[in-house]
Amino acid sequence: MPSLSLRETIRHRLADETGRISKQAPFTVALCYPSPYRVGMSSLGYQRIYRSLMEAPGLACERAFLDDECEADAALRPKHPITYESLRPIDDLPVLAFSVAYELEISGMIRMLQAANVPPRRRDRTPEHPLVVAGGPLTFSNPMTLAGLADAIVVGEAEARVVDVIRAAEQGATREAQLDLLAKLPHVFVPTHHGVLPPVGAEDDAVLPAHSAICTPHAELSGMFLLEVERGCSRGCTYCVMRRSTNGGMRIVPQEVVLETVPPGARRVGLVGAAVSDHPKIVSIVSALADRGCEVGLSSLRPDRLATTEGFVAALARAGYRTLTTAMDGTSERVRETLERRARPKHLLRCAELAKAHGMDRLKLYLMIGTPGETDADVDECVAFTTELSRILPVALGIAPFCAKRNTPLDGEPFAGISVVDARLDRLRRGLKGRADVRATSARWAWVEYVLAQGGEEQGLSVIDAIDAGGSFRAYERAFAGAKVGARRGLPMAAAGTR
Ligand code: SF4
Repeated sequence: MPSLSLRETIRHRLADETGRISKQAPFTVALCYPSPYRVGMSSLGYQRIYRSLMEAPGLACERAFLDDECEADAALRPKHPITYESLRPIDDLPVLAFSVAYELEISGMIRMLQAANVPPRRRDRTPEHPLVVAGGPLTFSNPMTLAGLADAIVVGEAEARVVDVIRAAEQGATREAQLDLLAKLPHVFVPTHHGVLPPVGAEDDAVLPAHSAICTPHAELSGMFLLEVERGCSRGCTYCVMRRSTNGGMRIVPQEVVLETVPPGARRVGLVGAAVSDHPKIVSIVSALADRGCEVGLSSLRPDRLATTEGFVAALARAGYRTLTTAMDGTSERVRETLERRARPKHLLRCAELAKAHGMDRLKLYLMIGTPGETDADVDECVAFTTELSRILPVALGIAPFCAKRNTPLDGEPFAGISVVDARLDRLRRGLKGRADVRATSARWAWVEYVLAQGGEEQGLSVIDAIDAGGSFRAYERAFAGAKVGARRGLPMAAAGTR
């Protein structure tokens, strides 16, 4: 049984939520997020699926999240997951629908299933267990890692199709009938029925824009009303799943629709999309929201747009920006060329100048390290250029090791190697000591992400072994034993995977 403290935590959070939809319906499913509440409630995709199910006649969903304490301690078994809406165990519901953002959340899904006494291996479940459905951003690049875990996988955009998926689950009188019905739906992969993945699904433009249903101060994006101002991207960065080849490029929400959708009482507004700053009316949208007294946050800012669009940085300053966050992308000009980035040093320098001119405190830049062909000379160029920027404004670098993703031109490129990434990070830190703040995600966990990004069903299932062995990096290394050479020498994973 769930502990009292979990129930208390949930009640406390529910009391602080606004916008929750109250509904009881004949067919109610668990909408599960495999990370803690504060992360799940900051996911616009998760919130959009919640709204779709709650607005569908005869259907409802109840939310459930990974136990908060499990995030920091991989060895901790989560408490039995219960739903926020009725505090009942998730396994009391007929369907567990998971939204999985990226590879490292697969462990959260497995841990939630285990804690609910639902076997995480698809083949170990019986018709007595809930049907397990998975979808979310991960399915845009590599749905196969979920194939040994989920009974059905919804590939790509799903805010309208999720209703058909849940209705198929409702209509099937037996597990076999459920799977037969699901297998007939477009862009739904049923591992027992299909040998080949369907193409990534795109919803009709009429469903845009997605926006928050529920606002909560306990989310990472605290109290923020999230609104999609565009979907997709017209650019072609070679490492990115959202590049123009995905779902027909960029779909734009008109300015008047954006402004009408923001509720009059909203004080914090998050404008979401893969390439928000490419929206042709973005400056006037931000300005209009600032005029209403809103604090505005944008999920992505391209440096060339910031540097060359009249009034953009000024509008952001008026909308509450104190740190200008954008992307350097690669360590050097040469690397950025290979990634097909449009950002040039002159754009980043101009960003720093504009941020300073408009009273901002800091320039924060995201970049990858360990990209294909990168050498120490590229890292040295990064040190020199960041030093130049830091003479204008304090700089913080947010660094992630490069992980090649499926469905991108760089699919199949090797991981640089844990020791190589660590050595380059060390070189960068030493070079920038006292001049810039350098934060990086772990090279070890980036390697785990890489194995799963390039792997298939076998690698997804081996996460269960890693969790059962304690969930440490060593446990993953052992579980991915066939991939060990890839970790040590940075060789492509293809040899060890199921590709
Ligand atoms: S990285 Fe950003 S700009 Fe580049 S293709 Fe992806 S979404 Fe577009």
